[in-house]
Amino acid sequence: MKRPAALFLLLAVHTAAHAHDVRQLGAHVHGQATVDLALDQGTLEFALQAPGIGILDFERPAATAAERAALARAIAMLKSGSWVTLPTAAHCRLSRSSAKAEGFEATAAAGQHRHAGFSASLQYRCANPLALRALVVRLPTLFPGLHEVIVHTATDRGQGRSVLNAGNLRVVLAP
Ligand SMILES: [Zn+2]
Repeated sequence: MKRPAALFLLLAVHTAAHAHDVRQLGAHVHGQATVDLALDQGTLEFALQAPGIGILDFERPAATAAERAALARAIAMLKSGSWVTLPTAAHCRLSRSSAKAEGFEATAAAGQHRHAGFSASLQYRCANPLALRALVVRLPTLFPGLHEVIVHTATDRGQGRSVLNAGNLRVVLAP
């Protein structure tokens, strides 16, 4: 049975590469976002990478007032942390957050194919992290263009991978 080992290695390599190069938009798939979730003691962190097409429906400079508003609204929503719902029993509080859009600026190199996307990070402090057995990531319902959200989880209880869509927003952490 060589396959499971090879698959595990592949996932491990992918995770390591991703962690060291989170700003790169190379693994950019329209409609698909990735979230790296890490829980260490009472600190819960989320790192999101999402393509422009998925959060919005364009990857070029906003051309109208409506597009500029949609871009600003997306950044504000990603930064607010409202895309994550945590169990109240865990008593988590958002302690730090950031969000930015990349690649939506006009560029001098016209004709060059480029992608654009979003990155965001959230940090929560949780008084009762043992209550964090499952949580909800609402990105596929907040942004219907995101058909799939892949969540990699790492806690002291183990690692996991969840593939979320509009019908399944739940991430179960290793028990
Ligand atoms: Zn793209």
